[in-house]
Amino acid sequence: MCGIVGYLGDNKASDIILSGLEKLEYRGYDSCGICLYNQSDQSFVTYKDKGRVEHLVHDFDYDINNHLAIGHTRWATHGKPNQTNSHPHFSLSKRFSIVHNGVIENYKELVSKFIPNTIFISETDTEVIANLIELFTETLSVDEAIRKTLSLIEGSYALLIIDTLSPNIIYAAKNKSPLLIGIRKEGITLASDLMALIGHADTYYPIEDKTFTKVEKIGNKYISEMFDIIGKPVQFVPLEMNMVLEEIGKGGYSHYMLKEICEQPSVIRKIMSKYLIEDQFTISPKITQMISAAKRIYIIAAGTSMHAGFVGKYYFENIANIPTEVFIASEFAYNMPLLVDNPLFIFISQSGETADLRTCLVNVKQLNYPTLTITNVATSTLAREADQFIEIYAGPEIAVASTKAYVGQVAILSILAYVVSSKKSFDLKLELSKVAIAMEAIIDKREYIHRLVQEKITKKSCFYIGRGLDYYTCLEAALKLKEISYIQTEGFAAGELKHGTIALIEDGIPVVAIISQKIINKNTRSNIREVLSRGANVLVISLNNVSDVTDEIVLVDVHEILSPLLTVIPTQLIAFYSALDLNKDIDKPRNLAKSVTVE
Ligand code: GLU
Repeated sequence: MCGIVGYLGDNKASDIILSGLEKLEYRGYDSCGICLYNQSDQSFVTYKDKGRVEHLVHDFDYDINNHLAIGHTRWATHGKPNQTNSHPHFSLSKRFSIVHNGVIENYKELVSKFIPNTIFISETDTEVIANLIELFTETLSVDEAIRKTLSLIEGSYALLIIDTLSPNIIYAAKNKSPLLIGIRKEGITLASDLMALIGHADTYYPIEDKTFTKVEKIGNKYISEMFDIIGKPVQFVPLEMNMVLEEIGKGGYSHYMLKEICEQPSVIRKIMSKYLIEDQFTISPKITQMISAAKRIYIIAAGTSMHAGFVGKYYFENIANIPTEVFIASEFAYNMPLLVDNPLFIFISQSGETADLRTCLVNVKQLNYPTLTITNVATSTLAREADQFIEIYAGPEIAVASTKAYVGQVAILSILAYVVSSKKSFDLKLELSKVAIAMEAIIDKREYIHRLVQEKITKKSCFYIGRGLDYYTCLEAALKLKEISYIQTEGFAAGELKHGTIALIEDGIPVVAIISQKIINKNTRSNIREVLSRGANVLVISLNNVSDVTDEIVLVDVHEILSPLLTVIPTQLIAFYSALDLNKDIDKPRNLAKSVTVE
């Protein structure tokens, strides 16, 4: 869940590591650290601490001639975020320094079997890896010792390893957690995300699971080699870097989240431009055949992507006539339901690295069922490992709380359902264009939403209520508000509230109601009256053609079926401004990480 960066080259390694860690901090940010080789006095220097990269950058001395370093931002899984548990970790004799992203599931067994008497300094699973390598070097070469360690450890990992006796080499390996190698004549960068390679690599390559990578300076050249677990060389063809630095700046906005909310109309337009050929939505025939052949679609996702999945279910059933079910990935992984013949599995993940989904993908592939991934990251594990993948093209999303990737997922799902539908009852291209314009209208009124937040979202808890498609938006809206403002929020099917939860409605409790569909308008309005009678402070978001004069946020009409793309925008702004007024760390909410690479 964290970020790792390594560098070996002609440039100052600490500069590249620190700027890389800053770009990756959204992946995990409870502690961070760096280990670098001081060329002048030939010593290794390690700085690490609890807290943000900012602290690592400003409070330590980098006036050191250094060309080799590894760095880490942590999202703790084993042991509290504190200085001792921060990475890099060392083997007992301090020979090996290591940064690790992921979880070693069998670390306790490995300790009892191989190193029962070792006294560990930290509580992490990572330190075990460093000590196993050290143990095996008693009888094996370093390459062999690392490969042996890799053959023993189970779980997820992206690893960078330094042998302090060979300060011209960085070793790397991965399983399940992402790790990329960026190549340029003057040096090689390794990182868990493409973003940290921007500006430092001309080509890159996503390292495969269970390959062992060695980056080495030989003469004046920097060489990278990959091997399988038994040491056989693995060939790889690097890909061109095509991401530019400007894509990941804040572009004048105070927060990435606000920038990303505001980018949503252009995400819709970008997706249209990518998938429209001669004015027709066009998807690879392999994908359309897969969908058309399915008796039932199983959407597997987590968090915000799962909410996009619910909207996708509505689209596949109502536009394409294909029965569809949505599953929480972490549940599906160990409790697979009874499946129909000819299923299709669709995995939705913003990062394409979600470990819960990966487990499901592996299970489903073993059963030989067709798989399709919808993701924002074309080079990600889930994109590579599914039979097919389709890209969202939302651009890099840095704020931990997803906004533009969510609308991108919903837009893609609408296109997929549309292209396979036999009779097209509306013009999706026209309707999506209208959505982009309607999004702009509400984004332009964001200061008005800020004022509404100050008036209405004043309590420690909040409810969102809606029916049908609006219910799915309520689930997403509630998640967004709670994850960044820490206001306890529930998204509820409006008709269900009275079956118990209405007991929580009391004077002043904020209830946000969403109404976009004619068929449920009257009923949701009855539910609004029910909570109003019990003292709720109600805020209504509606589409113009179903609006009431008293509704606070009235949105430009769009095709009902696409309303989730629009109604979600004011809810994202409600979350943003609530968190802003509560002075929360909006882009990096506590306890969360962007790319959830642990199960
Ligand atoms: N399991 C390791 C730890 O708790 C790595 C966590 C991470 O991915 O940041 O330190």
